[in-house]
Amino acid sequence: MRVESEPMAAIPTEPIGSIPRPPGLVAALATLPGTDPGLDPLYEEAIRDTIERFEATGSPVVTDGEQRKFHNFWTYCVHGLPNTDAEGFKIPFALGHTRQMPRLTGGPFRYRRYADSYLEAARRYTERPVKQAVISPSALSLMYPAEEIAGYPREEFIRDLLDEHETEVRRCLEKGAYKVQVDFTEGRFAVKVDPSGDLLHSFIDLNNLALSRFSDADRERLAVHTCPGGDLGSTHSAEVDYAELLPSLFELKVGSFYIALAGEKDRRHVLRIIRDHQKPHQRIFVGVISPIDSRLETPEEVRDRVLEAAEYIPVERLGTTDDCGFSPFCDDTSTTRDTAFAKIAARVRGTALASERLGFS
Ligand SMILES: [Zn+2]
Repeated sequence: MRVESEPMAAIPTEPIGSIPRPPGLVAALATLPGTDPGLDPLYEEAIRDTIERFEATGSPVVTDGEQRKFHNFWTYCVHGLPNTDAEGFKIPFALGHTRQMPRLTGGPFRYRRYADSYLEAARRYTERPVKQAVISPSALSLMYPAEEIAGYPREEFIRDLLDEHETEVRRCLEKGAYKVQVDFTEGRFAVKVDPSGDLLHSFIDLNNLALSRFSDADRERLAVHTCPGGDLGSTHSAEVDYAELLPSLFELKVGSFYIALAGEKDRRHVLRIIRDHQKPHQRIFVGVISPIDSRLETPEEVRDRVLEAAEYIPVERLGTTDDCGFSPFCDDTSTTRDTAFAKIAARVRGTALASERLGFS
């Protein structure tokens, strides 16, 4: 119950994760492997500058901009594994390009690096809460080939995968992540690949197997991000109706959901689905900024999008975010850092304007 002497906190606003890398870092990565120690000064400067610019936007929660995810949000933890080849699962994007992940060629499956190392580096530069994104078990499950690997059955791979994911999330929680966001871009894509919904449901079940290993208190800090993809100005599954995804998505055992909304053709249609299917304990962060739209949103436009969402989602369970990261793949330079931070500043300001309008102090 609201007590007059204790004003309600404003509507929370959080980023998704990635920020375009500085051009010097992108150029260096074109000639050197991402793990080359010679890149360390460039990474450190990129992280320091990213966090400084995040803070300058007024963003209450920051990230390292994924500056050290030197390939992408999807395979950062497995890139360079010796028991893989290049012939893995492909995601085609609407404007014609594809992205491909490595394929597992043998067991055992182990991560090469855990995301808590990024978190640790970021926290050296800020006192603000730092959010950490990790890849979902379901995305990495696509590394296992269609034909069974001799001597390493799929069931054993899934056990190893869940163990590795759990380890990564626990390490992030222990190192003080404000939230650990599981990136689940393949959720909507799964409905495109398999309209029966079977693939999506298998993804939800797999991710819930992992999430079940955490306590209720931990799961309050766990979150899921869904989007139609956002790479080189393009999406991979925007044509899939959210009605096919969101009811299942809300079965995931996490406290917060980050849902791309700004780029949707019919936002109210999506908001109605959220209203009808979200569960009472879930906080919904709706996307109010479109990273793949070169046009800069105004704070007033963001404010109006928040007010629109508040017609469907109780304000005490509403938050705002960007539709996606600004550069989920490291080599995507289609958006500048200046544009990304200007859009984030508009989100922060617009969310504050909406909070005022809704009577938050
Ligand atoms: Zn996304």
